[in-house]
Amino acid sequence: MSIIMSAMLLFASIVDSDELLTVKYMPNSTIQLVHKEPATGLLEYIHNNQEEVDEDGLVIVNDPESIEVVVNKQRKLPDGYEPQNLVEADVPYLAPAGDPKRLVREEVAGALEQLFVAGEEDGMDLVAVSGYRGYDRQKQIYEANVQQNGEEHANKFSAKPGTSEHQTGLAMDVASAAQVAVLEPSFSETDEGQWLADHAHEYGFIIRYPEGKEETTGYNFEPWHLRYVGKEMATSIYQADQTMEEFFQLD
Ligand SMILES: [Zn+2]
Repeated sequence: MSIIMSAMLLFASIVDSDELLTVKYMPNSTIQLVHKEPATGLLEYIHNNQEEVDEDGLVIVNDPESIEVVVNKQRKLPDGYEPQNLVEADVPYLAPAGDPKRLVREEVAGALEQLFVAGEEDGMDLVAVSGYRGYDRQKQIYEANVQQNGEEHANKFSAKPGTSEHQTGLAMDVASAAQVAVLEPSFSETDEGQWLADHAHEYGFIIRYPEGKEETTGYNFEPWHLRYVGKEMATSIYQADQTMEEFFQLD
């Protein structure tokens, strides 16, 4: 394999795929779902939280600072939202110093450090790949795609700003340091992937996009994408084998 091809493959693998939308979950079909068959639980949740719906049919969450906030392809952060307390955790990172991908919210950093220490004690070699992704960066990615390929294509293949969980500062993609390029479903078969699935909840994290829950989360299986929700909720979700959407009855 040529060096250029290897480099391209590496790049393709380490770009977090939840930045992308598949045709199956394109926003248009999401909007139809919201309008046609809104789940009773979702309507109740929107009502109870006094949330608004924007012109595209997306719910604007009104608790972006909550560690329990649910952000997905139907539920976006307010325009321009930025978490206030972003810091770097004391863990091994793939990205160089100064890269915003190293940032998470303060309460997540401590939990991430504990997770990494526990992993190391069990012989795991973890590396943090991608955390915070700002609204502006997602907006640039989306708008460049619109300009280059048109809106229809952009909606299929890039997430609208505000709908990526990475913008909350509560998510971190974690990989096996030995196989860092493997941000793909087979990561679940590595020792590190298996260990995260078994232990992440003990430190307040859930595997946000589990296998077999694609219809509920809107995302394919991402065994590397950890979302911080606090120990109590993470343990409940883990024990009930649920997603956040199921936990809050939003599906
Ligand atoms: Zn991710």
